[in-house]
Parts: sequence; C-alpha cells; structure tokens
Amino acid sequence: MKGLTGESWVTTQFDALEDWSQRHSFWPFPFGTACCAIEFMSSVSSHYDMARFGSEVVRFSPRQSDLLIVAGTINDKMGPVLKKIYDQMADPKWVVSMGACACSGGFYRAYHVMQGIDEIIPVDVYVPGCPPTPEGLIYGILQLKEKVIRDRQAHRKRLKEEKARAGTEGVGTQGVGNQAAAVSA
Ligand code: SF4
Repeated sequence: MKGLTGESWVTTQFDALEDWSQRHSFWPFPFGTACCAIEFMSSVSSHYDMARFGSEVVRFSPRQSDLLIVAGTINDKMGPVLKKIYDQMADPKWVVSMGACACSGGFYRAYHVMQGIDEIIPVDVYVPGCPPTPEGLIYGILQLKEKVIRDRQAHRKRLKEEKARAGTEGVGTQGVGNQAAAVSA
C-alpha cells in the first residue's frame, strides 16, 4: 500500500475495518441440547432479534461458523461430538457457554454429566442462568465483541514487539559479527 500511495495510513485503516467487520459478523453454530436452546431460539427471533448485533447468520455446519454457542446439558457421551465440531471450525473461532449446565453441569451433579464444557474446549464467554434470558445471551455476545477487539489488538501488539525484537537481535548479531571481524583482523 505504501508503494501505491506513498503513505502508510491505509494499513492502519484496514486494521480498523477488519476489527469492525470481525466483531459485527459472527456466524453462530448453535449446539443446543436442552431447554437453553429454546432461549437461544427466542434470541434470534423477531422480538429480541440478534440480527441487530450482526449475529443472525445461524449455520449448522462447523465449516461455515465462527461462533459456537453451547446451549444445554452436555453429558460425557456427547463430549467427543462437541469437541469434534469445535475442531472442525476454522480459526479464528469463539465459544459462548450458555447456561448453568454448559458452564458447570448445573444441578446435574452426576457421574455422566460434564461439569462444564471448558473441560474439553476453551470458552470465551460464560452466560450464567438457568435458563439465561435472551437479554443475558445478547449481553454475552456484546461482551464477546469487546473481547475480540482486545484480542486482536493484543495480537497486533505482540507481532509488533516480536518484529522490533527481531530487528534488535539482527543489529546485535551484526555487531558481534563486526567484532569478530575486527578480532580476526
Ligand atoms: S441451564 Fe437450566 S435451562 Fe439451561 S439446559 Fe440446564 S436445566 Fe435447562
């Protein structure tokens, strides 16, 4: 871009555009197993209308989704299925754990129920409640948007620091090389 315009501002603006589009266009995969899934349906229906927040493109294929919403009880037998679906989603991807069951097993203190999906997949946002209200889920999605921006900014900062470090190390190595040359001379 700098070669085309003579300026470097386009790159910065593109980052901002990317941030904006990423956080306003989640494609959710609803992994609904129990009553919480009904609240999810309500969240995407006309009254609550999650489309207002850019998250209405519900897909039932992990390859077309970037947001896994786990809504309901997950028993141990279902664990491998959930894990496989998560693994099949392309990066970058996020997970919302919706409701007490998905977050902690809920009131099922039983040997066959997973005591929280974070035993097998990473969770970005936990939405509490039994069931959580649609407002609760939407609030969780809004929190996720903020997290996406924070993560992207942190990633960029890390890249910049790594680049700067690599540059410094390059100079250092060159310095050592010069010293060696001086010694051998
Ligand atoms: S958290 Fe409550 S509403 Fe949600 S799946 Fe469990 S029992 Fe049902």
